[in-house]
Amino acid sequence: MQVSVLAGGVGGARMADGFARVMPPEDLAVIVNTGDDFEWHGLLVCPDLDTVMYTLAGIANPQTGWGIVGDTWRALEMLGRYGGETWFWIGDGDLATHVYRTFLWRQGMRLSEITDRLRRALGVPVAIWPMSDDPVRTIVDTEEGRLPFQEYFVRRGCAPRVRGFIWEGMERAQLSPEARAALEAADLVVIAPSNPYVSIGPILALPGVLELLERRRVVAVSPILGGYALKGPAAKMMAELGEVPSALSVARRYRDFLDGFVLDRVDAALAPAVEAMGIRPLVTDTVILDPPARARLAEEILQWVASWV
Ligand code: GDP
Ligand code: CA
Repeated sequence: MQVSVLAGGVGGARMADGFARVMPPEDLAVIVNTGDDFEWHGLLVCPDLDTVMYTLAGIANPQTGWGIVGDTWRALEMLGRYGGETWFWIGDGDLATHVYRTFLWRQGMRLSEITDRLRRALGVPVAIWPMSDDPVRTIVDTEEGRLPFQEYFVRRGCAPRVRGFIWEGMERAQLSPEARAALEAADLVVIAPSNPYVSIGPILALPGVLELLERRRVVAVSPILGGYALKGPAAKMMAELGEVPSALSVARRYRDFLDGFVLDRVDAALAPAVEAMGIRPLVTDTVILDPPARARLAEEILQWVASWV
């Protein structure tokens, strides 16, 4: 069975890691949001791609979920001494990723090719593709004005109330050819428990993706448990956008192309409502902090889908 996982950062990386542990690597591809990407002191930084890559390479910082385990901060300290902006945390090892990526980017390589080269160098046997080779930048429309995603997320700590999102560059962006090929070959597409607005939203907004998903078997894992996000602003955004922060709201967002929806045990009572939408529910443990839990959930999803007639 060929599987493609649509992923943002930390939640996406955890789910992708689960599948990577229970499947032949050549049957798996991870398609990653690039709406969070930005330029940092002239370097191209792709936070979600790096979170997925470091996690699959086994070098992610287990405390934060992002960054490299045991990384040091000498470069950032020095940058601060020059008066450079240091609100976005980039460790010394992490910095090398952005330096090398930017170097290849300036030579004209596509982001898909660059990502493939980086992940192979780190010994990751699973394909990781950016959603697009074209720059797409998430802008958060807030009550305090429009903020580039990292300004909203890191600098402002997601404090401003959200009114909506703008994807700069989306009108010119195409799905990466490698990501398209993976999706077209997929027997199963898994939408990871990532932020539905800012991590999965940009991938779904690319031309042709919804049509592609309608023709595939698609399962989503809820990033909302008991009305809360385990991390990040997903639930806060839902409330600010006038939706009920609930796993059910996530299922509703994806309902046009969803065949199955995985809910946490705390949300077992929502399963009948999911079924009423014509979507198969699976109630199980969805907290996948550690590798055994990730592998267990991935295996359970594969067996569940295989049991469908
Ligand atoms: P970011 O780009 O690092 O913010 O990461 P994502 O968008 O991929 O993930 C953020 C979402 O992942 C939040 O809504 C979390 O609730 C969810 N999440 C993180 N870890 C887990 C987990 O172990 N299980 C589930 N079900 N959701 C998770
Ligand atoms: Ca992210």
